[in-house]
Amino acid sequence: MSILDSLAPTGPFMEFFVYAAELYGVRYLVMAAVAFLIARPVAGWGWGRVHADAPAVFDTWRNVRRELWYSFLTVIVFGLVNAALFGWEWFDNCLMYFDEADYPEWWFWLSIPAMLLLHDTLFYWLHRVMHARWLYGVMHRVHHQSVHPTAFAAYSFHPSEAVGEALIVVAIIYIIPVHPLAFLIFQTISTAYNVYGHCGREFYPAGTATHWLGRWINTSTAHAMHHSHGRYNYGFYFLFWDRLMGTLDPAYGVKVERP
Ligand SMILES: [Zn+2]
Ligand SMILES: [Zn+2]
Repeated sequence: MSILDSLAPTGPFMEFFVYAAELYGVRYLVMAAVAFLIARPVAGWGWGRVHADAPAVFDTWRNVRRELWYSFLTVIVFGLVNAALFGWEWFDNCLMYFDEADYPEWWFWLSIPAMLLLHDTLFYWLHRVMHARWLYGVMHRVHHQSVHPTAFAAYSFHPSEAVGEALIVVAIIYIIPVHPLAFLIFQTISTAYNVYGHCGREFYPAGTATHWLGRWINTSTAHAMHHSHGRYNYGFYFLFWDRLMGTLDPAYGVKVERP
């Protein structure tokens, strides 16, 4: 079958595109909408601790409209990348396994935190590179237009950043063997953590930054600081790389403690 045939509305490319775009779109929308109902980046009604530098005045709808528009484009890009991977069978050489008997059950469960660690590492370095002057304007400025992001900013990327974000996730299945269900669970955790990171409120307790485990966990506070000044705090789920590379904001400990 030619590539043109696969692009037909009933071809494998189109089928995977529609399936993937629906999955990414619906999952993002439901999670972001729930988080938006619970939390906002402004003082007042809502659960969780509002960030210390919450804006006094915030044009919610103008921000949400922009975040929704770029997130819609991101869902299209994610759909296209998945369609190319699965619809055109580009994943032939990857390590994804479909028969559960191929690997022990403990690996199925261990592969999920392994994917989170791997994704955190790839994301940290992609994020650092996108803050380089020559790439920032093209790839990453759109995401930082949300100076005080809402939960809907989770997918608010320029399409070129969306391609980069999709490719670092695809890279994972070329590095470690994963079952599609484990991959689905990992991506759902990823979207939920992404939404939390942008929701504008903190749900971890005040002592998180000094707790033996909490000090390694990335928080909504750390990412809100990244959005407000565009320096420091490049991690996704963890703070390993930020602590190791000296890119954790020195004011983070104080900010996360402030009620
Ligand atoms: Zn962000
Ligand atoms: Zn950034």
